[in-house]
Formats: sequence, structure tokens, C-alpha cells
Amino acid sequence: MPKDKKTIKKVVASKPKKKGYQSVKGMHDILPKDQLYWDKIRTETKNLADYYHYGRIDTPLVEQADLFEKGVGEATDIVEKQMFVLKGGKDKLVLRPEGTASVVRAYLQHGLTHRPQPVKLYYIGPMFRKERPQEGRFRQFHQAGFEIIGDGNDAIYDAQIVLSCYRLLESLKIKKLDIQINTIGCKACRPDYRRRLVDYYKKKKVCNNCERRLKTNPLRILDCKDNKCQEFKKDAPVILDCLCADCKSQFKGVLEYLEELGLPYSLNNYLVRGLDYYNQTVFEIFAEGFDGALASGGRYDYLAKILGGKDASAVGVGIGLERVIAVMKKNEVKLTAKQKPKVFFIHVGSLAKKKSLGLIEELKNAGVRIGEALGKGSLKAQLRQADKDEAVIALIFGQKEAFEKSIIIRDLATGSQESVLLDKFIKEVKKKLK
Ligand SMILES: [Zn+2]
Ligand SMILES: [Zn+2]
Repeated sequence: MPKDKKTIKKVVASKPKKKGYQSVKGMHDILPKDQLYWDKIRTETKNLADYYHYGRIDTPLVEQADLFEKGVGEATDIVEKQMFVLKGGKDKLVLRPEGTASVVRAYLQHGLTHRPQPVKLYYIGPMFRKERPQEGRFRQFHQAGFEIIGDGNDAIYDAQIVLSCYRLLESLKIKKLDIQINTIGCKACRPDYRRRLVDYYKKKKVCNNCERRLKTNPLRILDCKDNKCQEFKKDAPVILDCLCADCKSQFKGVLEYLEELGLPYSLNNYLVRGLDYYNQTVFEIFAEGFDGALASGGRYDYLAKILGGKDASAVGVGIGLERVIAVMKKNEVKLTAKQKPKVFFIHVGSLAKKKSLGLIEELKNAGVRIGEALGKGSLKAQLRQADKDEAVIALIFGQKEAFEKSIIIRDLATGSQESVLLDKFIKEVKKKLK
């Protein structure tokens, strides 16, 4: 068919770029040598989640855009500038920029509201934001998150979320952590604080961005990195002076739990977090000597309702895993690599090579891990590899053995060896490994 031929020609003709294909800017491959860190994180997260009864949830990478426009807030950086919008189709779809809105969407969609409350969930997975790559931020990055949804705003849940996150970071050997914590009030008391902020800042010459934030999202001015705006922040009103009785006692409760646990925290009156759905407790966790927050979270009692569900108080945290790994590397955290197999399989000759994959299957089924260099033909090259891998036993399967249905078991330390029939060799190998 001429049409197909044409397509094939076109594909062949399009040459890769000079440097060869590169991964998309801000998105990175994770090579085997780095998987040690990821394995450790996944294991520790699961252990902790199991202990504290967080069930695993996986939500799709793609969601409706308005889940985040409504949930995270239209006047936030994430929604204004950082979402990857998928082209085509009649729905506006985006790659998820964060995990919490999706988790609450799933909580409502699957009627988890009817399960015993609270529902405790955790996730690990990639998120996507169109960050400016020069800031050293990633456009595809990974987060682990814990969420407790649906049982009022009891301060013990806030404390358990902070504790879960803190203990996870500790189990990853990250030391000298600082929890910065604040409350941002509720629907009843925050408007008063916003008014005071606007009154204060409208008399200052804030940056252009903050000029706009004065109208859309004045709390975000406190997050501004502009030098002048930072300077103004020093005398800005603090929310603690505006809190209603409920917010005051809720915050006091959270701090008392943290003190009881001996967790090191510092009050940061100007911590507001960049997402609209938060109320009351907000916190970030930092590691000494590292700039960005490793984890951030807070209470989001209004999100379920914003997304069209009934009221469901909730609190959660997201942990930036690339940052966690950067700190682990900086602190030279030692991870134990998987032990190398003690047995090395060697084949010599074409008949032996042909049968080698089948023999290795038998070893696998018997639970014996082996090393191999199947592509290397010579005995010498394979023995050299066995030596490099610090194997203690070599299984040598040559032409003669293939005919006789036997195999040589060689002790690599002493050089002594014996020939064993194939139907008994696994038992012999296991005996030698004891
Ligand atoms: Zn309040
Ligand atoms: Zn500013």
C-alpha cells in the first residue's frame, strides 16, 4: 500500500538531532544506581503507612483541569502558570500538579465518606509542573503523601500527620529537621486578617506581582521572594492576633501534641503555603543546610465541599522525594546494596549455552540466586567475572557435562571441584551455601 510506504520512508528519513535524543527539559531518567534511594523510600513509606494504617491509593496522572482550578485555587502559581494542559479533546485535561485534590476527588467519587472515618490514605508518584528549569526545579517530580480525611478537625490528626512525615524523613537518615508551623485561621477569622494585610501593604511600594496579589490573594504576598517585599514582611500583621476561639484552641492543641512528642518546631507567623485549600494548620519541614522545604502540608477542611462533596475535615502532607534524595546524597547516607549472588553460572560450548537459560530457571525456581555473563563465550572471561562479583561457587556447564547431564561445582576459594548429576545439583549447591 503506497500510503504506508510513504509513512515508513518519512520515519526513516527524520534523523535524530545532533546530540541524539534527550529527555524533556526538567524531566529526568532514574538509572539503576539511583534506584537504591527510591527502593529505600518506597520501603520506609510502606512500613510507616502500614503501622499507622494509611491505605495506599493510586490516582491517574491526568485529571480534569477544573479539579485543580477549583481545588488548588485559580489565583495560585500552580494553576495560573504551571499546569501542563493536554491538547485536543473537548475536556480540558491536565497532568496532575499535586496529589491532594485527586485523593479527595477519589474519596468522594468512591463513597469513602460512608466508610468508618477518618479515612487514612497514602500515595507515591510523579507530579508535573511547568516550573522554570533554571531554578533547579523539576517539571516531573515525585511526591509521597499522607492524608487523614473525614473526622473533624481534632488536633491529634494534625499531629499524627506531622509525626508520620517527620518519622519517615528520620528513617531515611535525614537529621537535624526543623518543623516550621503556623495557622492561617478559618472562614470566620481569615477575612479580618486579609483586611489587615491589605491595609498594611497598600501603603507600601510592593512589587508588581504583589500589587496584583493585593486584589486576588493577599496572603500570598507573605511568600514573595522580592527583596523589598521581604523587608516589608518584618512588620506585617500576624494572624495570631486575629484568630477566632476555635482556631486558637485548635492550634494550641497541635503545638501541645508536638511538645509531648518532643518534635522540634518553630513558629513561623508568615508561613501561608501557596495553595488555596488550606485552613488552620500549615507546616513545612526543612533539613539543616538545605534551602527548600522537604515536606509541606496542612489542614484542608473546605476542599471536599469545594469539589462538590459534603463537608469533610482533612489534613495531609506531601514530601518532595527528589529533594529528600538530594539531602540523603549530600549527607552521604549509606544504603546497603542488594547482596551479590554467591553462585556464578558458567557455560562453555554451544550445546551448554543452549541449555543454560533452562538450567538457570531451575535455580530460580529453587530460590538460588546466581550471577552470570551469558554473552561471554570463554571459560576464562566468565571466571574473571565470577571473581569480580566475589562469587564463592562456580557452576561450570560444558559440552561434556551437557551430554552427560551433569555439572561441575567448583569452590572458588580452594579450587576444588566435583561433577554432580543435574537431577541432584541444586541440592548439592544449597548444601554448599549453608
Ligand atoms: Zn478561625
Ligand atoms: Zn512581592
